[in-house]
Amino acid sequence: CGILGIVGKTQVTSRLIDGLKRLEYRGYDSSGVALLDTGELKRVRAEGKIAKLEKALESNMVEGQTGIAHTRWATHGIPSEINAHPHIAGRVSIVHNGIIENYAELRDSLEHNPKIESETDTEIVAHLMNGYLEQGLEPTQAFSQSLKQLRGAYALGLIIDGHSDHLFCARAGSPLAIGIGEGEMFIGSDAIALEQLSKKLVYLEEGDWAILTPDSYVIFDENDKKVERPIVYLENNI
Ligand code: GLU
Repeated sequence: CGILGIVGKTQVTSRLIDGLKRLEYRGYDSSGVALLDTGELKRVRAEGKIAKLEKALESNMVEGQTGIAHTRWATHGIPSEINAHPHIAGRVSIVHNGIIENYAELRDSLEHNPKIESETDTEIVAHLMNGYLEQGLEPTQAFSQSLKQLRGAYALGLIIDGHSDHLFCARAGSPLAIGIGEGEMFIGSDAIALEQLSKKLVYLEEGDWAILTPDSYVIFDENDKKVERPIVYLENNI
């Protein structure tokens, strides 16, 4: 239901949690975070309130300079820790808002029969992307290939083990904005999620996808053509 992501140079977990709290107004049934800690992927999730996620983090703190976070409103699979985002497949971790309509078809087409842990449509996207990486595709190419397979509505945030200075995102049917920072970049479902992090936003347009590093962002349209989108400056109070 809500997405947040940070690619930066300092520890980001506490700001991801603060941002998730700002997304609470959208409603949710579970939440989670995944971080790249000097490259290594770590994740904590919890069913229920964000307070439960914070509790889980107290006993199992995960940190990193790049991370994604999610509040879920279940569409495929019951609200549970296993079905909570971020989902992981191999080196890939993903958060998703919306519905992947052709997920069953995609699941059946996955090579090497990977173990599917959850009942969600989302996890299939992580396996698809990981499959392309396993085939030797570069992350950018793997992401663009994965997006071309998806039908439905989505806002996605994605990170890859071993690529701690990259954050991938895409939108089709569900809103997503980039927040521009100094030495860090952000993604969020809306301005409310991002306003504490950045007042300088770029809204992805339908079919757009982007790659963020701490110091840069590049946006592509649905035909993989590099595009510029307008920067919107938030007023102090939105
Ligand atoms: N369809 C996904 C799920 O059920 C995402 C739901 C959402 O937008 O939170 O896990």
